[in-house]
Amino acid sequence: MEKQGKRCLRRVVLVPAPFQGHINPMLQLGSILHSNGFSITVFHAQYNSPDPSNHPDFSFIPLPDSSSDHNILAGELIAFALELNAKCKARFPECLADEVMRQQGSDINGIACIIYDEFMYFSEETAKDLNLPSVILRTASASSFLTRTALINLKAEGHIPFPESRSQDPVPELYPLRFKDLPFSVFGKLDTFLQLISKGSKIETSSAIIYNTIDCLENSSLAKIQQQCQVPIFPIGPMHRIALASSSSLLEEDTNCLAWLDKQSCKSVIYVSLGSVVFMDVKELVEMAWGLANSKQPFLWVVRPGSIRGAKWIELLPEGFKEDIGERGYIVKWAPQKEVLAHSAVGGFLSHCGWNSTLESISEGIPMICKPCSGDQSANARYVSHVWRVGLELESELERGEIERVVRRLMVDEEGKEMQKRGKILKEKFELCIREGGSSNNFLKQLIDMIMSF
Ligand code: UDP
Repeated sequence: MEKQGKRCLRRVVLVPAPFQGHINPMLQLGSILHSNGFSITVFHAQYNSPDPSNHPDFSFIPLPDSSSDHNILAGELIAFALELNAKCKARFPECLADEVMRQQGSDINGIACIIYDEFMYFSEETAKDLNLPSVILRTASASSFLTRTALINLKAEGHIPFPESRSQDPVPELYPLRFKDLPFSVFGKLDTFLQLISKGSKIETSSAIIYNTIDCLENSSLAKIQQQCQVPIFPIGPMHRIALASSSSLLEEDTNCLAWLDKQSCKSVIYVSLGSVVFMDVKELVEMAWGLANSKQPFLWVVRPGSIRGAKWIELLPEGFKEDIGERGYIVKWAPQKEVLAHSAVGGFLSHCGWNSTLESISEGIPMICKPCSGDQSANARYVSHVWRVGLELESELERGEIERVVRRLMVDEEGKEMQKRGKILKEKFELCIREGGSSNNFLKQLIDMIMSF
């Protein structure tokens, strides 16, 4: 896209939510806007603060939230997000006003707008108070946004919590989702979660909503959302494919696994990762270990330090496991996931189906084994397995026999091959969407024009 003189002068303020799956798309959006001539300032929480050296062209300013040394427990993440909004609401206006003053004294032609993560909703009010336009970034899928609205409504109508006997019932108007696919969170109590998603889904004065999704993938959900809201929607994903390559990992990526992948045969490796926030019990670790070993497929497995309850890392792996797998398995603390999924040796992804992981996998045409744990992951898993049909859902508890079978179904059996073919077609569609004239490319141009018009 053309860089005009004026474009080079406009600044966009970004406010990401402090979680890996939210930071990545927000900073990717920053890179996209920067390559289109905007200057970028990121106001970030002190908890999980991004590494500025990965984005030398951006300015990073910590929010006045004083949470840097918080050791936040997984079950308190939702409460933490609410508290963060309350704290920042009081102090962000002053902090941002200082920045506006600072910018106006320089050669930068003011701040064009604030783009904030839906879960950093305090930003909308600050923008309004300072007379700045604001735009929302929703980092989850469009379909999962509809599940949140459904959950709020079903709760208000007295249908939530629902009896076990209803868990397989379809949710009205959300085919193929069932009650059990609604976005319940393990990171806080139901009421707290409902509070967060209600606040996050309100639009008071914001001018537009950006989605990290693709029109050809979520056309009907996007159309439903557009019908319900007054402001334009811009599905401009997959942003990791449009943004210039740069990592925003909070943990150090172990790139040695790429050399190990180089030694494996084409499409033979199952990559296993449950993202940045999911936790496991030791029993589940052990079942996963034997399931992978018994599948006899090569595997690359991410075990995040601290993600196994009661363990530091993998010291509680079962006896005999390492000898059994020999060179066939490789375990890392954190992987360069996008490179891993793009590697020719990788043929499948056992994932929790966080939205970034789902998009990254589909973008590379890699079929998935879906093991959702919380929030929007169940809806994503259902879409992967039943709508786009590029994955299998592992609905049982983590159990070695089930894991062994599902890995072999995906990696060896004919049904896995069929998924690979469908995955290849989706990958090609994604590529068309981001090219000149494709839907994401067109929406991006419209978004940039809108920001320029502010
Ligand atoms: N990720 C990574 N290395 C890993 C595991 C995950 O870089 O070893 C990245 C992954 O590429 C994705 C993000 O972390 O961009 C996780 O986001 P997602 O929405 O998939 O799940 P969440 O962590 O939010 O549950």
